Amino acid sequence: MHSPLVVLGGGPGGYAAAFLAADQGMEVTIVESSPVLGGACLMHGCIPSKALLHVAHVMREARELQTWGVDIENVVIDVDRMRAQKETVLRRLAGGLGQLAKGRKVNLVQARGTLIDNHTLKLDGSGGSNPAAATLSFDHLILATGSRPAVPGPLAVDSDRVMDSTAALELKDVPDRLLVVGGGYIGLEMATVYSALGSQVTVVELTDGLLPGVDRDLVRNLQRRLSSQLSELHLGTQVQALTAAATHVMAQCGKAGESWAGEFDRVLIAVGRRPNSDGLGLENTAIQLDDRGFVVTDDQLRTAESHICAIGDLAGEPMLAHKASHQGRLVVAGLQGQVATFGEQVIPAVVFTDPEIAWCGITEQTAKQTATVVETAMFPWAASGRAQAVGRPDGLTKWFVEPGSERLLGCGIVGVGAGELIAEATLAVQKKLTVKDITSTIHPHPTMSETVLASAEAFYGTATEIYKPRRPG
Ligand code: NAD
Repeated sequence: MHSPLVVLGGGPGGYAAAFLAADQGMEVTIVESSPVLGGACLMHGCIPSKALLHVAHVMREARELQTWGVDIENVVIDVDRMRAQKETVLRRLAGGLGQLAKGRKVNLVQARGTLIDNHTLKLDGSGGSNPAAATLSFDHLILATGSRPAVPGPLAVDSDRVMDSTAALELKDVPDRLLVVGGGYIGLEMATVYSALGSQVTVVELTDGLLPGVDRDLVRNLQRRLSSQLSELHLGTQVQALTAAATHVMAQCGKAGESWAGEFDRVLIAVGRRPNSDGLGLENTAIQLDDRGFVVTDDQLRTAESHICAIGDLAGEPMLAHKASHQGRLVVAGLQGQVATFGEQVIPAVVFTDPEIAWCGITEQTAKQTATVVETAMFPWAASGRAQAVGRPDGLTKWFVEPGSERLLGCGIVGVGAGELIAEATLAVQKKLTVKDITSTIHPHPTMSETVLASAEAFYGTATEIYKPRRPG
């Protein structure tokens, strides 16, 4: 079998590339080992986590109505129905993707694809519309095989009490005592879910703070609220070993030479993800991997085999679905003869905790690392009418500004719905807008989006909701 364009992997990078290519008139085949499109993001990541975080958020909001004189008693959680509802959402979305592929006449092959040379994939477990094919040759290939949870040796325990993010999202039950290893994106999102559902959650994080790399003032707001939700939080502490018994898991933890052990009903390991670059047969091509296993590409996402591109988690950090789908679109533009490069792209990031943390462009850490001089303008949500009205003044919006030009270099937000607000800031930073571009734009009142405006006004000392003159005269 031959297809001019083959996409290996049907996640948000792969299907975006394939659909767009088909829309542009190309003949496309997606090779995907799972029976449905959507990848880890849809089936074991972004979407199921957001479904469960939605439940957690509504539950917390309902409890907090006490302040308003509303007591919601007798909350009963039916985990089986919750799981079934989550699976309904996933089935609906996966079914939609299948229909979209069919409508576009994208050829779907359900198989594991391995490169046997630089123009041929061997197909194992071939199914779908071409069950008999054993090999598939191509003119162009887009590698979009994503990533999987990393489990370091001492934590790799063969017990269903020890879970990765995929298993934790299956929501088998609500354990009484859950240990979360790693205070990063996944650890904190899942800690938010399970603590709302009633687990006693302990988070152990290796570094001295949660979400390493994220600005400390943003994390501080989150940590304040999280500490009332978590049973225990241990920073600067390493989970060194896990031992599973029939009824529990023992965790051996160490901090500055001291060690302690804890007993838990379940453990979630969330210490990072690794690219799915092994087992692809890349050794049968000239494609190179870097020392972390990412496929090396140029700024047009071409590998050392220029007719083979790599996108998404496979092609490097940050491992975010929206980066993957954008790269998929760029690669298709490249196949159409355009020179589309990925170098200058501003990539927003969102941690969907409660409150959410979102940022784009430069951060405190990257400013320090690149010795970039920035001015910072902040607006605390305690001064936002909308934030006060909904009882969530625990937010902060800030801009990083280039002195002199007043160009917006980055934005950081912590607060309810920060993930939605960051889109405006991403546009501003991507398009090299200035502080005045934001201050001269009317934002709707009363909304949290006004904090994006007000923090820009704070740069000039003209935010009327706070009194902090910045530039007298
Ligand atoms: P992460 O890199 O965000 O966090 C892992 C954490 O584990 C780090 O803080 C690290 O210091 C800590 N750690 C490592 N070893 C440890 C040990 N032995 N004991 C205690 N702590 C230890 O990784 P993640 O949370 O697994 O997420 C992986 C990637 O998935 C993220 O980098 C992100 O790109 C992506 N992701 C994104 C979202 C989102 O966009 N909202 C959500 C989930 C995952």
